[in-house]
Amino acid sequence: MEQLAVLPAALLKTYETVPGLYLVLSPELTVLTASDAYLAAQGLTRAEVKGRDFFGLFPQDPLIPFELGFSASLQRVLDTRQPHQLPLLRLELPDPDYKGNTVSRYWDITHTPFLDENGAIQYIIQYSFDVSNLISERKKVEQREKKIAASEKHLEFLLNAMPQQVWTATAHGIINYVNEICCRDFGQSLEELRGVGWQSFVHPDDLPACIRAWSYALGQNSEYSVEFRLRMADGQYKWHLGKAIPLIESGELKMWMGTNTNIDIQKSNEQRKDEFLAIASHELKTPLTSIKAFNQLMKRTNDPEKLHGFVEKSASNIFRLEQLITDLLDVTKINSGSMSFNKAEFNFNEIMQRAVDAVQAVSPDHELLLEHSIDLPYHGDLLRIEQVLINFLTNAVKYSPNGGKVLMKGKIQSDNIVVSVQDFGIGIAAFEMERLFDRYYRVDNEDLRYEGLGLGLFICSEILKAHQGSFWLESQLDAGSTFYFRLPLKEYAAVDCQVERHQFYKDDSLTVSYNKVNHRLDAYWTGFNNKETVQHGAMVMLGMLRANECSKILNDNRAVLGTWSDASEWVGEIWFPMIEKGGLTHFAWINSNDVFCQLSAKKSADLYIGNVDIQFFGEIQSAEDWINSK
Ligand code: ADP
Repeated sequence: MEQLAVLPAALLKTYETVPGLYLVLSPELTVLTASDAYLAAQGLTRAEVKGRDFFGLFPQDPLIPFELGFSASLQRVLDTRQPHQLPLLRLELPDPDYKGNTVSRYWDITHTPFLDENGAIQYIIQYSFDVSNLISERKKVEQREKKIAASEKHLEFLLNAMPQQVWTATAHGIINYVNEICCRDFGQSLEELRGVGWQSFVHPDDLPACIRAWSYALGQNSEYSVEFRLRMADGQYKWHLGKAIPLIESGELKMWMGTNTNIDIQKSNEQRKDEFLAIASHELKTPLTSIKAFNQLMKRTNDPEKLHGFVEKSASNIFRLEQLITDLLDVTKINSGSMSFNKAEFNFNEIMQRAVDAVQAVSPDHELLLEHSIDLPYHGDLLRIEQVLINFLTNAVKYSPNGGKVLMKGKIQSDNIVVSVQDFGIGIAAFEMERLFDRYYRVDNEDLRYEGLGLGLFICSEILKAHQGSFWLESQLDAGSTFYFRLPLKEYAAVDCQVERHQFYKDDSLTVSYNKVNHRLDAYWTGFNNKETVQHGAMVMLGMLRANECSKILNDNRAVLGTWSDASEWVGEIWFPMIEKGGLTHFAWINSNDVFCQLSAKKSADLYIGNVDIQFFGEIQSAEDWINSK
């Protein structure tokens, strides 16, 4: 009580009446007084607190570690005579609004000593400030920020997962965001793209129309949609459909959001379709014009001999017209998957002879010879396979305009019927072979125009595929061509193989061995291959590469016959990425002599997007030298 007299009554009165939660303590930690607000908050009267020992009144909470509680703070103030702030104190108090519930309140509490002229502590003020509202506001802001960050991340994920280029621009059209597809397509970073804008990637021929459309959209705050070619990272232009929409809020333009969708395939398909329609119309019109002309002549002549000639000529044009329409219908059937095959057993010899006789009958300037026939029963669609033979023979006649021999030979090779048709005509240049590989392609010949829609081979290849077969060719410009096709005599069955665990594998089409000295796989492919054999062998190679942890393959195709184009896409798009993940870094590919086999391999390499170094070789030594140097 003696201590109470130390402080003037006026000072104590001041602390009692100031707004805020104040407790005045003596250096001995006796409560000298408390503010009205403090008493109200604690539900106490002044008489209940005055003169009481602080810890008698507010015992130390055993759940709060000593160094974080009141005792440590007050002790520190007494020792240092410096103010001390307690860590934020959280109290669970009864909820005034909901009986039985509690609410969290947060207190920011400081102990401030007041010193006399000798520097001794005269009294200590405990000031408590209720920061609960601040804390709950801060929590709300944090939660909002977290939500925004999460939705931004989500949005970024979505934008990068989209297959299109996506960008945003300011109201004035300055690019300020692009997704990862843009960066990948243009081979530049977001920062670089922000600087250059999109115009520098647009094909110069398409730029004026683009700028016009964009300026109009900017001026009108209206949607923008335009087709243009964009220069990709590899320097090639690809057709894109560019679209942009303005974001308008309360009548004000805030930003632009745009997408560029790659429509290159659709565009080139459209172009090819247009070209094809133009050729088809021309091809259909030619015989029709002749028929009309002969009909006129027939009307005018009374000479029976002449009339007979006109009827004959007219009939051959009708036949040609019918052939063209049949081809077109066949292609439509193939494309819609509705080509049906009536398979039955027949003797192969029968159709070979019949096809030669039929084409010979209409080719008086050529000598068609069946050099070796195949006297063997075969199970397939007789009419469709005859169609293939007739197509090969008619092409041989058509593309040897100076007449001469056309030779047909059949043989059995590795359980396959192999038929060749050789002519001594115009031949095909090496560079044109690649294009022939593609469907619908017709070799352009500037000097001569040969009738046809370029559908025959496509139809043949589909008929052969339906019989698990394939076709390929050898040709030399001005010397002639040999077209081959193959039909397997046995259905593809589970492969018969020899296996030495991860070290050696051998079946009818592939031998793979682990070359320990050079730490690589040596793969040697033989005979005719198709999608099944290639897929099976390639998966064996993947397993052995992984098991031996090697990164190099010497892939020898010298003994491969014919084409395996039906597996090219799978090898390029699926297998190479897969084996790259398995550890492959270098692939030495030794070509077969067969051009279509080479083209099948080239197609795979072209379709593959990744980092495996694939090199082609004409013979084994240079392939070995290269792979050993890696
Ligand atoms: P088309 O009706 O144009 O002859 P095909 O699909 O039968 O169609 O042939 C496709 C292309 O292959 C032909 O346009 C031609 O350029 C080429 N071709 C086919 N057979 C031969 C051949 N025996 N000699 C030279 N070129 C040929």
